[in-house]
Parts: sequence; C-alpha cells; structure tokens
Amino acid sequence: MTTPAHPADSTVWTRKHLLGLEDLSAEEIIAILDTAESFAEVSTRSRKKVPALQGRIVFNLFFENSTRTRTSFSLAAKRLSADTQDFSASTSSLSKGESFIDTARNIEAMGADVLVVRHPTPGTPHLLAQHVGCSIINAGDGAHEHPTQALLDLMTIRRAKGRIDGLTVGLLGDISHSRVARSNIHALTKLGAQVILCGPPTLVPRGWERFGCEVAYQLDDVLPRCDVVNVLRIQFERQQLGLFPSVAEYSQFYMMTQERVRLGKSDLLLLAPGPINRGVELTPEVADGVNSAILDQVTNGLAVRMAVLYLLSGRVEPGPRDGRDGRARQ
Ligand code: ASP
Repeated sequence: MTTPAHPADSTVWTRKHLLGLEDLSAEEIIAILDTAESFAEVSTRSRKKVPALQGRIVFNLFFENSTRTRTSFSLAAKRLSADTQDFSASTSSLSKGESFIDTARNIEAMGADVLVVRHPTPGTPHLLAQHVGCSIINAGDGAHEHPTQALLDLMTIRRAKGRIDGLTVGLLGDISHSRVARSNIHALTKLGAQVILCGPPTLVPRGWERFGCEVAYQLDDVLPRCDVVNVLRIQFERQQLGLFPSVAEYSQFYMMTQERVRLGKSDLLLLAPGPINRGVELTPEVADGVNSAILDQVTNGLAVRMAVLYLLSGRVEPGPRDGRDGRARQ
C-alpha cells in the first residue's frame, strides 16, 4: 500500500500529542477521521502492514485494565511497522517507589517515540507531556477523556450514516463517570450533532446543557428522536455506592431491549464502547442484532489508532526533548 496523503503536510495537523478532544478543532478531528479512512483499507489486505513508522518505538503504559484499547494500539503500531513494548504497572519499579514521571523518563531514555498512557487519575497524560519529550497519547485518564474511543465512535457513525452533522446522538447511562461520554460530547458537538445525555439523575451531571447537550431522564421519551445511541457501561469501579437502587432497577428503565429498539427509528445505530455487560446495559439480542455496530467499532478503532500514531509522527511543535538535546523532531 502507498502511504496515505499526510494531512500534517496540509497544516491541518501540527500537534505533538493527543491529550483529548476538547482542545481540537472540527478540522483536526476530520483530519484524523479522513486519515483513518485511508488506513482502514490496510486491514482488508492479506499483508496488513505499511512501513510508515519503521524504526519508531511505541510504548504502552497502562495503569488500568484494558483489553481492546491496549491490543488495538499495539496492533496499530505493528501495522505501521513500529516496534511496540507493553509496560505493566504491577510488575514495574513503581511498586518499589519510583515516581510515575521517573518511570516515563526511563522509558523515554530507551528511545520511545510515543507513549500511550492510561491512568485512573485525570490529567496524568497532560502531566507527562510536560516532563517527557516524546509524543503522548491519552488512552483514558480517569473519568476525563478517552479521545481515540470517541474518534472510533465518530468514524463508525460517519461510515454508517454518511455524516455527523445534523444527527441526533444519545449517550446513555453512566455519563458522570464516563470519559467516553466527555470525549464524545466534545467531538460530536463540534461536528454539528445534537447530543442527548440520558440516564438516571444520579448518573447525569447537572448543568451539562452548557456544553450544548440536551439532558433527559426518560429513555423511552427521547429514543424516537435518536439516529444513534451509544450505550455506556456502568462504571462501578468509579462510583460511590448507592447511585441507583439496584442493577435490576437500572436495567428496567435504561437497558436497551428489542422493545426499545422498536421504539426508535428503523435505522437506529447502536454503539457501545465495551466491555459490554449483557443483561445490564443491553440485552444479548440487541448486542448481536442488526442495529448494533459494536464489532465495527473495534475494527474502526484500529484504523483510528493507526491514523493518530501516523499523524503524531509527522511535523510537530517543539517540545521539551527538542530543547534538551537539540534533536529536531521529524
Ligand atoms: N473501554 C472504555 C474505557 O476504557 C469504556 C469502559 O471501560 O466502559 O473507558
């Protein structure tokens, strides 16, 4: 495959890091989605590899569990011919008292070009970006942002519907604790979608209308208006106790069932970031049904992460490492 046209060359993309979608312009988001479309084709080939990142090192630093995201970043880097290395927090010297920043600096000293970081504390990738010279990709920081998840959600919507602008997208469930919701809100509103946040009042933050969203507590009332519903996982690991009476109660009012799918438009598109809990947020029939694009999201995630790795390896702003050792980043 020939390497796709590099949007960084057209001055749309000049960033060194991907820390979140809040700061990105609509043009930058579209540049990533367009680049991802060029890379989607690579995954359909028998030789699923291009030489774009040959000689680069991509390091995964995950301080929280992950199945899809870490594997997806590793595969994306490999398809671009980069070397990849996983860092495991539990078996590292962090358990001997080494600071997070020292660990990252040591990894950088081994020649890492990109650090893909997941951490339970919001802002951790932003902190790292101030202390290391390599590119940082936020792979989820607490309840704050998960930019590549939202980008793959947008790519899946755009592929299914042909556009984002003018669509009504429902984000359903645990909005309060969801980094996926935050990143989706930033990106969808910038690209002209109408966003409805729907869930129990205890899981939908007050005042989020200020981000240009509609807030609703009765799913059955808003479903008929939605073109897309993104079914979020209940983030039990980030919740205080008692935000709803029981899982059974939650499911009664907010689980996506066949009956609820029938309330919606015939071409309602259902997304879920995963992991999905069958029988809690959606029924197995709905998860595997014709409206579900859950596995398309996983496929598109690979293309989005290839695009992000590729764009960050292009022209970038000067960073700490450039100042320290005089090496200009390519
Ligand atoms: N996999 C997504 C995340 O890491 C969603 C989830 O865990 O519910 O945020």
